[in-house]
Amino acid sequence: MEILSITLTGWAAITTALSMVILAGLMFILGREKIHFMWGVFSSVVALWMGAFYAVTLAGDPETARFWWKIAYVGIILIPFTFLHFVLEFIGNERLNRLKNRIIVILYAIALVFLFLNLTTNLIIDKVTFLFDELYYNSPPASLHPYFLALFSALTIYAFYLVYREYNVKRDDTLFRSRVRYFFFALSIGYVGASMNFLAVYGIQMHPLTNLMVIIGASIVGYAILRHQLFNIRIVTAQLLTLILAGFGLFRLIVSASVQEMVFNVLLLAITLLVGVYLILSVRKEVEQRERLEVLSHALAEANEELKKLDAAKSEFVSIAGHQLRAPLTVIRGYVSMAMEGSFGAIDEKVKDALGKVEYSAVQLVKLVASLLDLSRIESGRIKYDFVMGDFQSLTEKVIEEFTSPAKKKGLRILFENRAGTLPQFLFDQDKMREVAVNLVDNAVKYSKEGEVAVRLEVTATGGKPHARLSVHDSGIGIKKEDIAKLFSKFARTEQAQLADPNGMGIGLYFVKRVVEDHGGKVWAESEGEGKGSTFFLEIPMRSR
Ligand code: ADP
Repeated sequence: MEILSITLTGWAAITTALSMVILAGLMFILGREKIHFMWGVFSSVVALWMGAFYAVTLAGDPETARFWWKIAYVGIILIPFTFLHFVLEFIGNERLNRLKNRIIVILYAIALVFLFLNLTTNLIIDKVTFLFDELYYNSPPASLHPYFLALFSALTIYAFYLVYREYNVKRDDTLFRSRVRYFFFALSIGYVGASMNFLAVYGIQMHPLTNLMVIIGASIVGYAILRHQLFNIRIVTAQLLTLILAGFGLFRLIVSASVQEMVFNVLLLAITLLVGVYLILSVRKEVEQRERLEVLSHALAEANEELKKLDAAKSEFVSIAGHQLRAPLTVIRGYVSMAMEGSFGAIDEKVKDALGKVEYSAVQLVKLVASLLDLSRIESGRIKYDFVMGDFQSLTEKVIEEFTSPAKKKGLRILFENRAGTLPQFLFDQDKMREVAVNLVDNAVKYSKEGEVAVRLEVTATGGKPHARLSVHDSGIGIKKEDIAKLFSKFARTEQAQLADPNGMGIGLYFVKRVVEDHGGKVWAESEGEGKGSTFFLEIPMRSR
C-alpha cells in the first residue's frame, strides 16, 4: 500500500501533467495558427515529463524509478528543442524564416541523438538516490548529463535572446511588444520553477515542488495565445490573483472549526469572488480599449508615414522639374534674344518673326514651370492670384497662335470662332488663365491624330450674369462616359490617354478646375464616347470689380 501513498510532490506533478494535457488539447482543438500548434506540442512534452515524474514519485524501488526517469527525460530532452521551434514560429522574422526549416531539422536531429542515448544507454540517466525522504532522484548525474544540461541552457537562452532581439527591432509593433513582455513574464516563472529540478541532480537539495510554477507559466502563455491572441499581462494577473485568493478562502472554509467560522469564511469567499470578478472585468475592459486604441493609432501612424512619403516625393518632383526646366530655358531665351538683336549677324524679318515666337514660347514655358510650383501651392492651400482687368479674347488668340505650328506638324487644323463679338475687359489672373487655356488646347492637340481643334469664345448669361465661355472641341480619342467625372481630379488619366501619350502627368485639368473655380467659374467636359472626340468647357463670370 505504501506505493500508492501519493506525496505532495506527486500531487504537484500529476496536477501539472494533467493541466498540460488539457492545455495541449485546447491548443490542438481551438488553435488556428501554427504557434498554437507549437505551444500544444511544447505543452505535451512538458506533460510527458511531469506524468513520468509522477510515476517516479510512486516508484517503490530504484529500478522502477530509473525506468520512469528515462521516460521523464524523453520529455525533458524535447523541452528546449520544441521551445526554440515555438519561438522561431512566434517571432516570424523574415530573415530567420528562410533559414528556419533547416535550423529545425538540425535541432530535431540533435534531439534524436539525445533521445536515443537516453533510452538505450546509461549516459544520461544512470544512478538514482533516495532524496527528500520521499523519492528516488536521478542523482548523482550520469556522464553525459552535464553536456545535456549545457545544451538545454544554451538553447533556452538563445530562444529568449531571439525574442528579445525581435522586441528591440519591432519598436513600432506595439502589439508584438506587449505580447513579448507577457511572454517573458510567464516563461520566466515556468523556467525558473522547472530548472530547480536540475539542482537536486547535482547534489543541491532543492525540493522539486517548484514544478508547480510550470503550470502557472505555461497556462498563462497558453491562455493568452488562445483568448487574447496577445499576451495580456494585466488580465491574467488579475485572474491569477483572484484564483489564489479564492483558493485560499476555500482552504479556510474547509478547515473551519466551528459553524460561525464557516459562515464567516463563506462570506469572505463570496466577497473575494465578487471583488475578483469585478476586478477582472474592469481590467479586461480597460485593456481591450487600450488595445483598440493601439491598433488604431498604429494604423494612423502608418497612413501618416505613407502620406509624408508621398508628399516628399511630390515636392521632390516639383523642385526637380522646376530646376531642370528653368536652366535650359534661360539659355534658350538668352540666345534667342541675342540673335534677334543681331549679335550673330543680320537676320531677315521672317527669321526674326520665328525667333519671336520661340522667345514667346520659352517665356510661356518658364511660366508653366511656375505653374508646376503652383501645384504644390494648391496642395498646401497657398495659391496666390493677381486679378487685373484683362482682354480674354486676345489671350485666347495668343494661345491658339502658339499651338498653330505644333498642330500643323501633326496634320491638325486649329479653328477659332469668336461668337462674343468684342469682349469687354474683365477681372482675371492673366497668367493663370493663360495656363488654363494652354492646358485645354494642348490636350486637344495632344489627344487628336487628325481633323480639327475648334476653339470657340462666347458670352453666356449663366445665373443671370454675363460669363465668358471658352470651349475647345477636338476630333481625338474621346472619353468614355464613366471616365468623364474623374478627369479633373489629381493624377487622373484614362487608359486611352495613357496609350496616346505615356508622358502625361494628369495634373493639367486638376489645375484648370482649381483656377477656374477660384475665379468663380466652372469647367466640364463632354464626349460622345471613345474615339468620338471631346469638348472641354470653361465659364467664368465677367466681373469688373
Ligand atoms: P495629362 O494630359 O497630362 O494626362 P490632364 O490633367 O491635362 O493631364 O488630363 C487628364 C486626363 O484627361 C488625360 O490623361 C486624358 O485622359 C483626359 N483628357 C484631357 N483632355 C482630353 C482630350 N482632349 N481628349 C481626350 N481625353 C482628354
